[in-house]
Amino acid sequence: MTSTASDISTATADLITARHLINGEWLGGADTERMNPARPGELAALSPSGTAADVDAAITAATAAQPAWAALPAPARGAILMTAGNLLLDRQTAIAEDLVREEGKTLAEAKGEVKRASDVLRFFGSLGWAATGEVLPSGLPDTTITTRREPLGIVGLITPWNFPIAIPAWKAAPALISGNAVVIKPAELTPLSATHLARALQDAGLPAGVFNVVHGKGRVVGDALARDSRIAGLSFTGSTNVGLGLQEILNARRARVQLEMGGKNGVLVLDDADPRKAAQVVAAGAFGLTGQACTATSRVYVTPGIRAAFLEALTAEAAQYTAGDGLEGAKMGAVVSSQQFEQNQAAVRTAVERGATLLHGAYDGGTDAGFLFPAAVLTDLPFDDAAVTEEIFGPVVAVLEVPDYEAGLAAINDSRYGLTAGICTDSLAFSTDFAARAQAGVIKVNRPTAGLDLNVPFGGVKDSSTNTFREQGKSALDFFTWGKTVYTGV
Ligand code: NAD
Repeated sequence: MTSTASDISTATADLITARHLINGEWLGGADTERMNPARPGELAALSPSGTAADVDAAITAATAAQPAWAALPAPARGAILMTAGNLLLDRQTAIAEDLVREEGKTLAEAKGEVKRASDVLRFFGSLGWAATGEVLPSGLPDTTITTRREPLGIVGLITPWNFPIAIPAWKAAPALISGNAVVIKPAELTPLSATHLARALQDAGLPAGVFNVVHGKGRVVGDALARDSRIAGLSFTGSTNVGLGLQEILNARRARVQLEMGGKNGVLVLDDADPRKAAQVVAAGAFGLTGQACTATSRVYVTPGIRAAFLEALTAEAAQYTAGDGLEGAKMGAVVSSQQFEQNQAAVRTAVERGATLLHGAYDGGTDAGFLFPAAVLTDLPFDDAAVTEEIFGPVVAVLEVPDYEAGLAAINDSRYGLTAGICTDSLAFSTDFAARAQAGVIKVNRPTAGLDLNVPFGGVKDSSTNTFREQGKSALDFFTWGKTVYTGV
């Protein structure tokens, strides 16, 4: 049965309605419907379609609120972030359930994501107590040199749907602890998750106007955010095409821009690896989160001696990742949208038409039971097939044979992307060489390409990133601050 906004009760509509948060007020209509990708016809969320006027109001509120926020002692700012982190944890299950309904991942993955957002807020909150500058010697007599970090001012954040609460948190927390005010535009497909983050910050006592949310279309709300001269820096995560367009806008007005974009992450499996363990590593990277992670494994290069055993083990692993409703214990969640579902099907179909063997999966299923796409393992395909070169963003992995380590490394590096890269081997020599020569921002040895710690730098190279400022860990503070050097004489 199809439910729409008009035939659900007001109380239910209130629960699933995301609003703009502008100057501490929840505003905007409930005019955009988001359906549950695992349950055809079930309404998951409602949200307003923001306009350039909403963005203007949010930036005006942020501009008014930022000086007092920056003047608050950093430990007091940190305390608010830590309280918000604790609130997310108190609300973990309810938020995770909303996240599953609007995004499609499994409940376990969603709970893990909410926990991550909570940890991120508490990590950056604790940095309110940390040193932010240095004391340096001067060549001048009776002079001390210190360095300071100043907030940029008002920053814009544009985020994707695939980690709808963790990514807003890992951008907002370093921005806020540094004394910036924020305007965020969450992904249209997942308005509720960012709303939960905003609510936790507000309930934790964040002053009105310091964190503002404007929902709506990228080319309306996101574009207005990027073009407003009051936005001193824009941090974006999403597809490479959109990111590069935003970079032009920000560069033209010489504002700071941080882009984390697409990936085509490869793993090299060498003869000396354990085929079963390597298959588990690859399957977790390829099929976990329904393959909808920028760090997902999507191409694998194997040397001849392990090929057969690895493919057999990977096919068995793929069979474990049955797709289903994330709220009903599925091992793999739903694909986010019909468009993404069709994209996955087209990628597999085209590869098969070009001679690939499909060892596991299918590309002709319907969507009557939701956007449930079976884990796909392709092999025997040309190195230039789009399934090998282009980001699919689904649970599809291509396995290709290479003669030796050097050829495998060259294949890993033969990509426009450079987000994560992995190797499965027992050889210290090969893993050390790979860490040095693989062209990616994150290297994983015997670990899935997807999955990151929150306290270490994250970002890519090539078309995966602006490759200037890293996200996460203390490095995340660099984007949201500028440096000042102070000479003090007596
Ligand atoms: P997307 O680029 O379509 O959208 C990302 C955000 O940009 C959304 O909020 C969207 O509304 C907004 N947007 C779209 N067009 C815009 C425009 N013209 N101007 C301003 N804003 C605009 O990406 P998506 O489909 O939401 O997410 C999937 C992509 O994100 C994949 O390519 C994935 O690899 C990437 N991603 C990267 C990382 C990373 O850290 N590198 C992490 C997660 C996702």
